[in-house]
Amino acid sequence: MHKKLFIPGPVEVKPDVLEKMATPMIGHRSKDASALQRRISDKLRKLFYTEEEILLSTSSGSGLMEGAIRSCTAKRAAVFSVGAFGKRWYDMAVSNNVPADLFEVEWGQATTPEMVDEVLSTGKYDLVTITHNETSTGIMNPVEEISKVIKKYPDVVWCVDAVSSAGGSKIEVDKLGIDICITSTQKALGLPPGLAICTFSKKAIERAKQVPHRGYYLDLLSLYNYIQKKDYQYPSTPSLSHMFALDYQLDKILEEGLENRFARHIEMAEYVRAWAKKNFALFADERYLSNTLTTVANTREIDVAALNKELGQRGFQISNGYGKMKEKTFRIAHMADYTLDDIKELLGHIDDILKL
Ligand SMILES: *Cc1c(COP(=O)(O)O)cnc(C)c1O
Repeated sequence: MHKKLFIPGPVEVKPDVLEKMATPMIGHRSKDASALQRRISDKLRKLFYTEEEILLSTSSGSGLMEGAIRSCTAKRAAVFSVGAFGKRWYDMAVSNNVPADLFEVEWGQATTPEMVDEVLSTGKYDLVTITHNETSTGIMNPVEEISKVIKKYPDVVWCVDAVSSAGGSKIEVDKLGIDICITSTQKALGLPPGLAICTFSKKAIERAKQVPHRGYYLDLLSLYNYIQKKDYQYPSTPSLSHMFALDYQLDKILEEGLENRFARHIEMAEYVRAWAKKNFALFADERYLSNTLTTVANTREIDVAALNKELGQRGFQISNGYGKMKEKTFRIAHMADYTLDDIKELLGHIDDILKL
């Protein structure tokens, strides 16, 4: 039996979107491929509220995270981490021999503007990474406030991991001054995994020109140069199947209306939070809660794996806590194309199984 996925990626994909993945192939050096990829970039600029260039990579989101920190750090990177995915960016820097320092907070807490200001004021860093939405803890960092601080340091390239929030929560890339905003297809965009997306500012382009060893496949500058020269075609063969589905899904997203889509996510988030507070407790700092997933503190000490097994028999799946938080927390994703009714259906089954 297929389980409806309420895990923070991959998410449930609508049948009509899935079907687009089966579109017959076109040549990746054809005019049609150029037009397809240009259309996608135009629509993504709307989604990210940006005039800057969009890069597509046939990899998951981690690919562009690695590409960004490697391609755009000339001096030293300041990596802010509020959970597993923030830490991943630091591990990527270390493995690529990119000088970096890690600034962590306890899981469940947020990165604050004061922390960022203190670190950047040392003048040691020319790139900063912030996780917009930390999927391991359910924290959504206050990027608007953080942006005010980062604007004081015009030489710093700002990279944002919006993998689990872009398309589900508003991120105004140009207004905030984000240089590289990264996401992947299998989360709030509601597509199968396999394609990564980022915005790429002029400041980031100029920085990358100063970095001699940017790698090859994930060199953001070479992707950028290539699509300029070759009318939106990419250096290597991209996942055209994803492109067909993304082109179609972006139409659906823009048809729904971005504001409507974000409001729908907030509505689902508020419902799950209220349910969590009534029956358990919230894990993350309540001032910085994610709109796309909720991490519930397992205050009743239920057997989360057993709950998920029973849910599975009913055709649903949620996520256990991430890594060290297994059984101490569990996570319910409310992203992509789900509606409040889907969430109510899921929580109704959990109530029934746990006799809440
Ligand atoms: C899922 C996720 C990633 C990793 O993305 P992949 O597409 O799996 O590589 C990175 N950051 C966050 C916040 C995520 O939720």
